[in-house]
Amino acid sequence: MTSSISSSYLDLDGAMGEGGGQVLRTALALAVCTGQSFHIIKIRAARKKPGLQQQHLTAVRAATKISQAQVEGANLGSTELTFRPGEVRPGNYQFAMSTAGSTTLVLQTILYPLLLASGPSQLTLEGGTHNPLAPPVDFITQTFLPILNQLGPQVSAQLTRYGFYPKGGGQLTVDLVPTAHFKPLVLMERGKLVARQAKAIVAGIPDHVAHRELQRVADKLKWPAECLVPDILPAVQGPGNVLLLQLRYEHVTEIFTSFGERRLPAESVADKAIQRLQQYLAAEVPVGEYLADQLLIPLALAGKGEFLTVAPSTHTLTNIEVIKTFLPVPITVTKGPEKGWIIKI
Ligand code: ATP
Repeated sequence: MTSSISSSYLDLDGAMGEGGGQVLRTALALAVCTGQSFHIIKIRAARKKPGLQQQHLTAVRAATKISQAQVEGANLGSTELTFRPGEVRPGNYQFAMSTAGSTTLVLQTILYPLLLASGPSQLTLEGGTHNPLAPPVDFITQTFLPILNQLGPQVSAQLTRYGFYPKGGGQLTVDLVPTAHFKPLVLMERGKLVARQAKAIVAGIPDHVAHRELQRVADKLKWPAECLVPDILPAVQGPGNVLLLQLRYEHVTEIFTSFGERRLPAESVADKAIQRLQQYLAAEVPVGEYLADQLLIPLALAGKGEFLTVAPSTHTLTNIEVIKTFLPVPITVTKGPEKGWIIKI
């Protein structure tokens, strides 16, 4: 880094809170939305391999491209970055990662600027579509977008090819119609249960893995056969295995995920997702941990909203701190009177 950083740049410490990639992604998203430049040090300081990895670098490049930004430090492994956004240009964009870097986390970075832009956009994102530690595409299409679309924009996403860790090679296309401003949202109740589904996806992994995972769901949750869906993909899209448990309520759909791993029996993969689902059921709140993360930026941009959720993760609390750095909105996190936690903007 050579330039002396002017005071018009917001200073961010990437080691704050959870010290992961979210500090950077939220900063990029809100920098482009607000036109505020920033300078960040210690990017992903708390991670085993700190600095910009492929996913984060692609997010930086994508934010740079859509906003014609000036950027310094955009290299693999870089722990410091300056970012000065320009005007957002809607349009057709393609961003590809040669690894399984998460396409949905790149989307998270450029979604909001494009949703406040002057015209529609279409994105083609290539890399991982089903990664541990990132929202699987199903979570985006079934859980997140139906709620986001209630706030004003129209966003639809199509999975054209699966990409699993570590090979990647997946493809996601996203159509975005912007909104002049985001509407507030109040989400305090799940409403009635409308549908439930267990989908076991395998690619280049024996079919019996999917069937055993679904059998475990049937045994433990007593879900009937019509709720159990094996999805056997062409081997070329693998190797990969993921189990997705979906609960669709009147006001929210939640998805609980577990990934197959070498030497982990299919039953244990199923148990992990089942446990996550049971924790959500016991919490009696509409918004799970990961959806809470996703709702913060759009509600902060709306300037108003509240939802009932589980105890906030460090990830959520860190995200709130970064948002407050860019937007003058008070965000409170308080224990609910009966159950859960209320996040209010
Ligand atoms: P790093 O911290 O190593 O840079 P990262 O940039 O990939 O990693 P995090 O900062 O940990 O990611 O953020 C992960 C994001 O993925 C968060 O927004 C989190 O809510 C979301 N997420 C993780 N697992 C799931 C899941 N199973 N379903 C939905 N969303 C998920």
